[in-house]
Amino acid sequence: MTKKYYDADADLSLIQGRKVAVIGYGSQGHAHALSLRDSGVDVRIGLAEGSKSRAKAEAEGLRVVTVAEAATEADLIMILVPDQVQAKVYNEDIAPNLKDGDAIFFAHGFNIRFGYIEAPSGVDVAMVAPKGPGHVVRREYEAGRGVPALIAVEKNESGQAKDLALAYAAGIGGTRAGVLETTFTEETETDLFGEQAVLCGGASHLVQAGFEVLTEAGYQPEIAYFEVLHELKLIVDLMVEGGLAKQRWSISDTAEFGDYVSGPRVITPQVKENMKAVLADIQDGTFAQRFMDDQASGAEEFKKLRAEEEAHPIEKTGRELRQMFSWLKDSDDDYTEGTA
Ligand code: NAD
Ligand code: MG
Ligand code: MG
Ligand code: MG
Ligand code: MG
Ligand code: MG
Repeated sequence: MTKKYYDADADLSLIQGRKVAVIGYGSQGHAHALSLRDSGVDVRIGLAEGSKSRAKAEAEGLRVVTVAEAATEADLIMILVPDQVQAKVYNEDIAPNLKDGDAIFFAHGFNIRFGYIEAPSGVDVAMVAPKGPGHVVRREYEAGRGVPALIAVEKNESGQAKDLALAYAAGIGGTRAGVLETTFTEETETDLFGEQAVLCGGASHLVQAGFEVLTEAGYQPEIAYFEVLHELKLIVDLMVEGGLAKQRWSISDTAEFGDYVSGPRVITPQVKENMKAVLADIQDGTFAQRFMDDQASGAEEFKKLRAEEEAHPIEKTGRELRQMFSWLKDSDDDYTEGTA
C-alpha cells in the first residue's frame, strides 16, 4: 500500500514560517487562501489589475496585491490561475521576482510536466493537489475535516521541499483526510486521462449517446433525461461510498444482471483501445499542445466545441426539468445556468 501522511506527519510551523502568495482567487485559490489564513499562515493574494476576483477576496479580509508584488513579497508562491495562462503569468510577473530559497507550488502538474514552465536553480518546485473542487476543499476544512490531497516534488533545492508540501497540505486540511505522494508526471498524465476518458469526456458522451438512442426511438426526452443523466448521481454516490460492489448490491437484481450482460456490449474491447490512444496523446504531449496552441490563438476550437455541446438537446430538456428540483437552487457554488 502507498504510504499515507496525516497531521502527525506534517509540521505546520514550516508553512507558518513562510510568506505565502496565492496567485488567483478562483475555485482552488479561494479555498487555499482562506484555509491557510485560518491555519495561521501569512497569506497575500496576487491578482491581475482589474480582476473580478479582487472584491471577493477583499470581502473576506484578505490582502490583494498585483501578481508581481505578491511574488516579490512571498517566499512560497502557489500558482492557481488556469493552466493555460500560468506560463504567461509566470514569465511576466513571477519569474523576475524569484530569489534563491523561494518555492513555487502548483495544484496540477500540467505546466511543469509539458515544459511550459521551467523554474530556475535555487527554487523548489512542488505540488499540493486536493482531490476535490475548491468549494468542497473549503467546506470540509471549515467543518474540521479535509479533502485528501496529492503531494509531489519536482525540484528539491532546499532539501525541505517535501516537508514544505506536507505542511502546506496540512494548512488546507489535506492531512486531516490523508495525503499521498506522487510525481508531476504521474499526477498530470493520470489526471488528464481520468477527466478525458472517464469522468468528463467518457461520462458526458455516454450520457449524450444514451439520451440520443432513447429519444430517437421515440421516448419522451424528459423520461430519457431522468434515466440517463439525473439518476447517474445516485449511482456515483454509491460507487464513492463502497465501490462498484456497493452500487451493485444496492440496485435491483434486474439492474445488476443487465450491468453484467449489457455493460460489456457498450464498453467493448474497442473502447479500451480508444482509451489507450487517448492516453498515448496525453503522454506524448499531443493533447497538451493542441490545447495550448488553440488557447494561444484565441481558443477558437475550444469556443466552437463549447457552443456545439451546449446546443445538444439534453441541455434544453435538463434546464426545464431542473426547475422541479428546488434543492438544486441551494448549491453553494457560483455557477449560473447557460453561462458556461
Ligand atoms: P479558476 O478558473 O477557478 O480560477 C482562476 C483564477 O485565476 C481566478 O481568480 C482568475 O481571476 C485568475 N486569473 C485568470 N487569468 C489570470 C491572469 N491572466 N492573471 C492573473 N490571474 C488570473 O481556476 P481553478 O479551477 O481553481 O484552477 C487553478 C489550478 O488548480 C489549475 O492548475 C487546476 O488544474 C488546479 N486544480 C483545480 C481543481 C478544481 O477543482 N477546479 C482541482 C484540482 C486542481
Ligand atoms: Mg483530477
Ligand atoms: Mg484536471
Ligand atoms: Mg431506472
Ligand atoms: Mg442488488
Ligand atoms: Mg470550467
